[in-house]
Formats: sequence, C-alpha cells, structure tokens
Amino acid sequence: MSVPVHIRFVLVGTQHPGNIGAAARAMKTMGLARLVLVAPEKALDDVAMRRSAGAEDVLGDAPVVATLAEAVADCQLVLGCTARSRRVQLEELLPELAGQRAVAKASEGAEVAFVFGRERTGLTNEELQLCHLAVHIPSNPEFSSLNLAAAVQVLAYEVRMAQLEGQVQPAREPGFGDAPASHAQLEGMFSQFGETLDQIDFHKGRAPESAMRKLRRLFMKADLTEQEVRLLRGILADAQRMARLAGIRPD
Ligand code: SAH
Repeated sequence: MSVPVHIRFVLVGTQHPGNIGAAARAMKTMGLARLVLVAPEKALDDVAMRRSAGAEDVLGDAPVVATLAEAVADCQLVLGCTARSRRVQLEELLPELAGQRAVAKASEGAEVAFVFGRERTGLTNEELQLCHLAVHIPSNPEFSSLNLAAAVQVLAYEVRMAQLEGQVQPAREPGFGDAPASHAQLEGMFSQFGETLDQIDFHKGRAPESAMRKLRRLFMKADLTEQEVRLLRGILADAQRMARLAGIRPD
C-alpha cells in the first residue's frame, strides 16, 4: 500500500508516555506506522510499551525531533488537530474531509502530516501557523477535548476510510462487466417490464402507471450495472415466453 507511507502522525510535546503508546496502537489498527515525536516531555517507558499493546514497532521506529518545523519540513500538506474550534485563521475541516484530502494528496506522492498538541495546552499559535489547515472533531462545545490517543484514533480511522473508498471504486469501472447501466439501457428494461406486466396480466384492470412508477423508483435507486440489467431482462424474457406458452391474454 502506498498511501500510508506518505502519511505521518506528529505528536507535539506529549506529557504522558502512556498516551504515545496508545496513539501508536490507534495508528497501527488503522494500518498507519509513521509516528514522529516532537520534544516529548518524558522518554518512552514501560507504560508507553504496555499501552501500545503490540505496536512497539511503531514506537521503536518513531524519530524524536526538537521542533514541529523540523517534523514537517518535507511535507506538502500539514493538518493541525485542535480541540478548540475556530481559534486560528485557518480553514477548518471535519475529520472525514481531512482524511479524504490527506489520502488524495498522499496518493499523488505528496508528504502529509497530521499534528496533535499537548494534553494540557494543545498546539501553540505559532505551531498552528505551520499548518495549512485545521481539523476539529465536532465534539461537545462544553467539553471539547478528547484524550490525545482518542483524537489520533478518530483521524487514523478517517484516513483508513478514505483509503478503502479509493480501493473499492475501481471494481465499478468498465472492463469488469459491471459498468453502471446507461439511461437508454434502463429505459429499455422499463419498457420490457411494462410489456411483461401486461402479458402476465399483473394489473388485473388497475391502471398500469402506478406499478410502473414504483418499479422505476426502485430500480433507479438500485444503481444497476449493465450486467444486472441483462440478468433482469433475461428473467423478463423468460416470463414473457412462459406467458405465451400459457396463452394468457389480457382483456
Ligand atoms: N486542552 C487542550 C486539549 C489538548 S488534547 C486544548 O484545549 O487544546 C490533546 C490534543 O488532542 C489536541 O492538541 C488535539 O491535537 C487533539 N484533540 C483533542 N480533542 C480534539 C478535537 N475535538 N478535535 C481535534 N483534535 C483534538
């Protein structure tokens, strides 16, 4: 996978080593491995190892640098996570959109950083100035601050979701036999539906429009592929053949 290689999570001035361990675990569960520590208050200890619960490799590989500027020097996109909404003059994104932007950039080969602040005081204004965008998890305004590792988990999850979405899409592309059905193909199917319902005497004297309207709505919602339209039309053709054999004649 190429995207996670270009995305790093940067923890600035972390006060509790246990939170660094829990953040490493949160990242690893979402397939992320690049953790960078900016001047942590205390060195990694046993508590950090225990809280990482198997993500010791992420902790072990994490470089420690002196300043945020150093941690993001080679980044093209830096996203600052802040518990306080609208504190700086930065465009503020919801986590979902931030995940999508990060994955889009990283898939072009750009380096992307998510930056998290200190447990007590968050990021300084100077540190936020180094960010292109702010990310705020829309928490309770009266109690807005998540635990550091919990905030890391939310953003790591959004990165993973954006990444999985990108992987699912190609299956819908032409060439695999499941291109989306065109308007004309759907109309062809609807007119065959209309004929078939007449031929099997479905309406029994009721106006055919109401059933057709409901069927149209159902199939429009279903986002059918070409293959699915072919399958349904095959079933309709068989129903038409059976109706002919049975000699059903409406009226
Ligand atoms: N008291 C600090 C909160 C620090 S919590 C403050 O008011 O800024 C530690 C870090 O977790 C924050 O710096 C931020 O990076 C992240 N975080 C916590 N809650 C968040 C939220 N609601 N949205 C985005 N990031 C959050």
